[in-house]
Amino acid sequence: MINQAIPEAGEQYRDTLSLVDKKTGNRNWIYPKKPKGALYTGRTWFSILLMILLFSGPFMRVNGHPLFLLNILERKFILFGIPFWPQDLPLFALVMITFVLFIIVFTVLFGRLWCGWACPQTVFMEMLFRKIEYVLEGDYKNQMKLNQSSWNINKIVRKSTKHLLFLILSFAIANTFLAYLISIDELTKLIVDGPLLHVGTFMALVIFTLVFYAVFSRMREIVCIVICPYGRLQGLMLDKNSIVVAYDFIRGEPRGIRKKNTTNQTGDCVDCHRCVQVCPTGIDIRNGTQLECINCTACIDECNDVMRKTHRPEGLIRYASMHEITNGIKKRITWRSGAYSLVLCILIAVVSYLLLTRSDIETTVLRTPGMTYQKQRNNSITNMYNFEVINKTFKEQHVKLVVSEPNGAVMRMVDGTDPSTLVLGEDGIVKGTFFIEMSDTALKQNNTHATLNVYSNGEWVECISTNFVGPVQFKN
Ligand code: SF4
Ligand code: SF4
Repeated sequence: MINQAIPEAGEQYRDTLSLVDKKTGNRNWIYPKKPKGALYTGRTWFSILLMILLFSGPFMRVNGHPLFLLNILERKFILFGIPFWPQDLPLFALVMITFVLFIIVFTVLFGRLWCGWACPQTVFMEMLFRKIEYVLEGDYKNQMKLNQSSWNINKIVRKSTKHLLFLILSFAIANTFLAYLISIDELTKLIVDGPLLHVGTFMALVIFTLVFYAVFSRMREIVCIVICPYGRLQGLMLDKNSIVVAYDFIRGEPRGIRKKNTTNQTGDCVDCHRCVQVCPTGIDIRNGTQLECINCTACIDECNDVMRKTHRPEGLIRYASMHEITNGIKKRITWRSGAYSLVLCILIAVVSYLLLTRSDIETTVLRTPGMTYQKQRNNSITNMYNFEVINKTFKEQHVKLVVSEPNGAVMRMVDGTDPSTLVLGEDGIVKGTFFIEMSDTALKQNNTHATLNVYSNGEWVECISTNFVGPVQFKN
């Protein structure tokens, strides 16, 4: 992690976590001061927009199907209305790799902007749960007092109301989360039919509710500091040119109150500790960029307020890179971020090409395991094949399989149906077995290349290659 703080401050603060009591090793419960300011107002409006999108997401549909579905158990995925099948795993993996690289590039350039502005953990914690706490228990000092006071009616009412509201919110979030996993239709079935008919779904809902309740009522900043892998990887991704919430130690130090009629020259930091009081992870940003900082900007707002009141320029704590603070250089693009961006552009191009050229139908043809060839009474040779056709769209597809090689080969289904009349319903699968039959005399070798063409709704889709075996080597 970069140290962009005052050099003489040392790095001892990195030896302990803000949420752990240095003496006892117990957890330090953090009581952040209620934030206010321009950035906090901006974050509030942005969070409202995000929450509207998140909660309405399961109800959004494209041609009657969910906009997003991440059904891991049934291996059904829909992203922006496009269905993905397990057979699309390489493409899906490539999309995920591209997404991870995008996050890395974004973090190298803009630090933890995501954590402070858009991460669901921050949005729900700071904009829902924390606000309820401020309304019911007051600002940080009142919360401390309430927690230290003995139990009385006032405390019981405030605490029980708060936890009841926390549970209701956790239940609402769990429902939304589950709707993204199993679709809103399945969730509606649970509500309409009752839990007894959908025990598994109901149990999942209860578990999610309890997990969210534990996260937002107890775990809080532990999720960001200890559990979240993205947070833990900050030290690898950030560099001296990344934009982070940073304290301008050149301007701020030496900190202290400027006294009239003294020769002591102090910096702009009046050492009021308001930036520390407001921090939801309990750190002092003046020590430098730290793992615990989620870039929530609360300290920027708080310090700007102090600067205004003390008639100094705002921005003692601001979005800036270490280079910008130490050398005044605003260098955004470095060879590192440039190289990442280049790889990202290549990946985006590849993924776009694969998505645009992805066929609506996926066909697999394999020779039936354990079978060689069959000699028929009319001296023809047959080979048996298993096939699977997947409709990757939400439209009905009329699929036709036609054998085009070897010349003279004929295809017929084992059950006698016509291979040119396969009808696949929306996102449906057809599996079956067919024979390819050839005249014995037409076979020139024991292993012949065979080709099948697949047509869907009258249009050619793909060409499948396989082989046809016969007894030719035993002739003569
Ligand atoms: S809020 Fe600003 S002035 Fe006050 S201690 Fe923090 S950095 Fe210094
Ligand atoms: S140091 Fe500032 S930006 Fe970082 S978590 Fe604390 S208040 Fe938020």
